[in-house]
Amino acid sequence: MKHFELTAPSELEARVERLERQLNRERKARLEAEAIAEKGLRDLYESQQWLLLLQRITEGANESDDVRASVRLALREVCSQMGWDFGNAFLVDPVTGDAVPCDAWFAEQPDKLFAFLEASRQMRFPVGIGLPGRVLRDGVPHWIPDVRTDEGFLRRNIARDCGIISGCAFPILIKDEVVALLEFFSARTVVATDTLVGTMTQVGTQLGRVIERERSRQALLHDALHDSLTGLPNRVLLAERCDLATARLPQDKRGVAILVIDLDGFKTINDRYGHHTGDALIKEVAARLLSVVQTFQSECEAARSVWYGTVSRTGGDEFVVLLDGLADEDQISELSHRVHRTLEKPFFHEGQAILVAASIGVAQSSVDHDDINQLLRDADLAMYEAKSEGKGRTVEFSKGLGDAIRSRRQLELELREAIRDCQFELNYQPILDMQSQLEVKGYEALVRWNHPARGLLGPSEFIEVAEETGLIAFLGNWVLHEACDAIARLHAMGDAQARRFVSINVAPMQFLQRNFAAQVRRTLMSSGVDPRSLRLEVTEGVAIIDPVRTAEILAEVREWGVQTSLDDFGTGYSSLSYLQKLPFDSIKIDKSFVSALSEKRSQDIIKAILDLARSMNLSVVAEGIENDEQGQLLAGMGCQFAQGYLYGRPMPEAEAFVL
Ligand code: C2E
Ligand code: CA
Ligand code: CA
Repeated sequence: MKHFELTAPSELEARVERLERQLNRERKARLEAEAIAEKGLRDLYESQQWLLLLQRITEGANESDDVRASVRLALREVCSQMGWDFGNAFLVDPVTGDAVPCDAWFAEQPDKLFAFLEASRQMRFPVGIGLPGRVLRDGVPHWIPDVRTDEGFLRRNIARDCGIISGCAFPILIKDEVVALLEFFSARTVVATDTLVGTMTQVGTQLGRVIERERSRQALLHDALHDSLTGLPNRVLLAERCDLATARLPQDKRGVAILVIDLDGFKTINDRYGHHTGDALIKEVAARLLSVVQTFQSECEAARSVWYGTVSRTGGDEFVVLLDGLADEDQISELSHRVHRTLEKPFFHEGQAILVAASIGVAQSSVDHDDINQLLRDADLAMYEAKSEGKGRTVEFSKGLGDAIRSRRQLELELREAIRDCQFELNYQPILDMQSQLEVKGYEALVRWNHPARGLLGPSEFIEVAEETGLIAFLGNWVLHEACDAIARLHAMGDAQARRFVSINVAPMQFLQRNFAAQVRRTLMSSGVDPRSLRLEVTEGVAIIDPVRTAEILAEVREWGVQTSLDDFGTGYSSLSYLQKLPFDSIKIDKSFVSALSEKRSQDIIKAILDLARSMNLSVVAEGIENDEQGQLLAGMGCQFAQGYLYGRPMPEAEAFVL
């Protein structure tokens, strides 16, 4: 039987040792396990922090349309999370491609970093240059472990003085394009971890979305404010710039000028070459205008005269230039001169040279202007005035011009009423036969306007406006009717008056109307008068406009017996050549020759006209005879018919017809 088995002491020790080793192993394993568990927790915690950070930045980006605000938020969040001291953002300039500071930055203690902060907010970095330039070039994050030893880090010295040790920068991308970037700096060493890089990539994507939204909004805005053909500012943007310019004006309101530039005869170019060419020409004109204004602007700037020019397209062939902050009025005339000159160079389209000119109206701001629209209107009026003076002119608005235009507009309004209400009457001036005891052979009908406020007005007061506005067609038609009715009354008076004629003045625009001859015929028929007692006086103006039609119309009315007379003979350009080609019965020697009859030269001219008329079988009326001497001289030279104050002024029908 075996009760106890005594163990030797050495064996016991070995066993204790073994147990202790085992215990140690287990403790170590437990510690290791604990350490592993703790690190997992810590990593989990850290990645949760990153997630929260990303969430806040994403929310900020989603809520805001403001690029800078979103970027500032991201800079602040990242700096606090990482314990970094300074974060700064750059936007990429779409024109130059440079990284440009955008006033979005964060610093925990700005005063400590002042110098570095200032430098970072002012420097722009081309591709490849400095830390931002590297990110621009490569489109990936870049790290500077020690700013003091990095030769390519431009802000090295300032950074060192501010205690900065390391830095890093991350791109903000839209697809593959770097559109902005963030840079961070720390007084400790910055370590690149996968989580950091991964999170910053996400941040970059979120901010890229904000910038993309901002870009499409800008594009929409650009479309709304710019002309799609030329890319120039449109009327809306012009109005905005005008408002800004006027808001800055000093007390005396001087310093803003408007040029309204309108192409001459653009419609003809469009009609002849097609709209495609028209558009190409407008684009080229826009480019030249822009270049002229910009060049002149920088020249003036170099001479220390700073102003700002906006070239806009406000209509089909109309451009408006706003000059803001102008100090020297001579610059306006210099600029309009340059505009005319730049347009003188021919435009080429499909090998064809096209010439254009422009009319320019100028107006300068003054105390008289309540708002910018008034200034625009003035420039517009001046432009129309320039147009009426011919092609390629500049007219500057003045108070006198404004008054003249306003009174002309007023006159036009009144003239319309006058035509509607028949406020006109005809006066008749006798035409006598000098070779036959001054017998009255006929009358010239001269229109008068019985103005309700201003009394009886002569044609010089309103014929021009009637012609410019086209109202002459209505007025002339009334004259034709009234004169025919008067002829009927004259002939109804008895035998002696039976063969007298009435001569009416026909303006070119009325004469060249499509239905003029038909109108004459209809009027003659409805009034029942002998066509031979109606005479039409036209000036050579009609033949200058359209010689062929003039000849046709004259021939047509003559066929019915209507007489034709060339008025104001000798005052035009080429009376003789027209005289030869056109079927007239008589000519009227203008009163300017008659009033100068005391001069030999005038006598010679009249003699020549009389000879010519005799050889062409035309009768001659001398008008404007005011004294006996003139009458006798003309009669002596063989002139048959006479008209003038000497024999009778234009007078009302009742007085004239009993002569
Ligand atoms: P006109 O055809 O040369 O008419 C002659 C003008 O000379 C008239 O002026 C007449 O009053 C003026 N006159 C006549 N004798 C003398 C004279 O001895 N001395 C001077 N200094 N003047 C004399 P008025 O009536 O003022 O007409 C001016 C112009 O208006 C006319 O020049 C004519 O061109 C235009 N006119 C007149 N009536 C009509 C009309 O019914 N239709 C159109 N289209 N034009 C008209
Ligand atoms: Ca006349
Ligand atoms: Ca005349």
